[in-house]
This record gives sequence, structure tokens and C-alpha cells, in this order.
Amino acid sequence: MKPSSFYETWVSLNDSGALAKAVQKNENVTLRDVDSALLSVPVSSGGFLSLISNVADERIGQIGQAARDLTIQRFGRTVNLYIPLYLSNYCVNNCAYCWFGKEQDIERKTLTLDEVEVEGRRLISEGYRNVLLVAGESKAEAPVSYIAESVALMKKIGFVFVGIETQTFTVDEYKLLGAAGVDSVTVYQETYDEKIYKRVHPSGPKKDFKWRLDTADRVAQAGIRSIGLGVLLGLGDYRRDAVMLATHVKHMQKQHWQNSVSISFPRIHAAPGRFAPDNPVSDSQLVRLILAMRLAFPDSILTLSTRESAKLRDRMFGLGINQVSAGSKTSPGAYAGERGKEGAGEQFPVSDARTPAEVVEAIRKKGLEWVWKDWDTNLKPVS
Ligand code: SF4
Repeated sequence: MKPSSFYETWVSLNDSGALAKAVQKNENVTLRDVDSALLSVPVSSGGFLSLISNVADERIGQIGQAARDLTIQRFGRTVNLYIPLYLSNYCVNNCAYCWFGKEQDIERKTLTLDEVEVEGRRLISEGYRNVLLVAGESKAEAPVSYIAESVALMKKIGFVFVGIETQTFTVDEYKLLGAAGVDSVTVYQETYDEKIYKRVHPSGPKKDFKWRLDTADRVAQAGIRSIGLGVLLGLGDYRRDAVMLATHVKHMQKQHWQNSVSISFPRIHAAPGRFAPDNPVSDSQLVRLILAMRLAFPDSILTLSTRESAKLRDRMFGLGINQVSAGSKTSPGAYAGERGKEGAGEQFPVSDARTPAEVVEAIRKKGLEWVWKDWDTNLKPVS
């Protein structure tokens, strides 16, 4: 039987009223619901709803302890480090929240392959072995062949794990990227609310909501083993997007059981021009979402980037989160020069601007170990 696409699931959840019912249910959660959710881990869909509700704040200590225990049980006392390497900031899209949007007045640059190698070698010399290659969407500046060559180059110079976060591709193009060595594709839906999605993606190929919604299915069909999902917190309603994201993860686990799904929690802190998120997400909501995801998906990698402050990241190391970026720059060519000196225009300002050594020290202070390589080496339960 042909696997169903997530778009079909999305339509059925909306048309049947199941999503609306779930959101309504979330408003009526009681402390008893939260307590009973904690009795049965991995939590059910109903338990997940209880854990992301405001009421759950009253049990945040117990929820955090359960998430910490589960993270240690599944991944050991480790936190994986990765770093984004920006290849190009040219983009034909115009996402309202992004400084790479084509109407933004920033200095544009696409790294040559020689420059990609210089950047990569710099990161290797600092210890990194897990890199995320990032590029805006431009078939002229960063076509699939260029991304594939960059991936192969990263593998050649010593990266063990290479992920990409770029424009989305067809199954055949993802196969080509897989053959070049791509281990993981990150594709955030941004929001599962089609109306808001269309408003914040007014032009360019990315405005095709359905195409983006089915991207993770195409990645899996191409045989790439790891897929990163997430929403851009602040765009859509917190509960609706949280429920849809959890449903998407479940869909991937059911339809493509041989793949692994990781979950990220990017949150809008700053945006170009006068763009302000309709649904800002508080620290409490973010923490609840991370803990609920850990308790719903014990084996998924949960990632927190340098978009978040040092204080919040330090709190979350090992508390559900088991992968973080460190020392990140969000512009092409930012690493090869003197550390601290930017390259071309950046995608967004980072909040946690600590050096990799400072982040490592913060992880160590939490009684955890840092790992520079592939997370698969950590997938050993500890007793
Ligand atoms: S979010 Fe991605 S697609 Fe949108 S403008 Fe930025 S780089 Fe381009």
C-alpha cells in the first residue's frame, strides 16, 4: 500500500474537526489530567495536550524530572554539539520574518567551494564533526548540484554528520543529495496554519503550503535516514501548531519507521522591518513544549539553537534537550575570518553568543558530557 502523505492527515484533522476539538480540550485541562499523563510515558496524544497546557506549570518540577530521567535513560549524560555553516544568503522567497528575504537590503554572498572548504576546515580545527549546511532558496546561486558538492566536501574533510537546511527538493534530487553524503534534512513547516502560512510567505516557491507539508515524506522516500521537523514559534497559535507538529512526528514514525525524526524549537525573537509575531511564545510555553515532546517521543533528538539565550539554554541542557548548536554565526563566510567578525548579511541575530568553549563549560557544569560527533553513537540506553 502506498504510504499516505502528511497533507492527507492534515486535511483530515482539519476537516473532521479533530484539531479544533483537541485545542478546545486543552483549555479544560485539570491538574488531575496532568498527573495522570505523567503516569504513562510515552504520553498519549491526550497526555501531550495536558502537558502543554497552562495548568501544567503547577507541576513543572515533576514534569522536568521525568523528562530529565528519560533523556538520560535514552541518550546517556550527553549533549551533542553541531554548528550551522551558511553557504549562501541569496533567496527568491520573501518570508516576512527572515533577513534573507529577497526584498531585504543586506550584503549577499554565495561561498565558492574553496571558501566552503576554508570554513569547514576552520570548524574541524575547533572540534566540530556535526555540521548543518544552510542556504537560502535560489536555483541560480545554490542549485542542488552545488549543495551536493558542498556536502561531499564536508565529508571529505572530516565531518562525520552532515545535515542540510535549504530549499526543498523533489525525491530524485534528495536521492542525489543522499548519494553525496547528506545524513539529515531539516525542514520546518514554520506554521501548520495555512492562512498564516500564506500571509507570511507572500511570494516565491515557498508559498506552496502543500509542497512544503509533504517535504519530509519526500526526504524519507529518497532514503535519507534523519529528518528534522519544527515550527517557527510565534507564527501560529501555540497549541494548534504544537498538536500538528506532534501529529507530523507520529505520521513520520508510522509511515517511515526506518527513519529517525528530530525536533527543533526555533522561536522568533527579532524580525526585519515592522514584522511582529501574532502569537508570541513565552519562556514557560517553550519549556512546556520541549518537556512534552520529550515525554511523547523518548527517542527523538530534541534540538535548541543559539536563537535562545544562554540562561534558557543552560536550564534546558539535559532537560529534554540533547542537541545544541554552539558558536554559531548566521551569515556566509563568518567563520574563516577572525572569530567574532561577521561575513555577509546574517539571517537572524543569535542570542547565545558564547564561544564553543564557554558552551562546553556550561554543559560540563550541569554534570553532562559534550559530544562533537554523530548522535547515533549515543543511542545506548543506560541502566
Ligand atoms: S526563511 Fe528561508 S526561504 Fe524564507 S527568506 Fe529566509 S532563507 Fe529564504
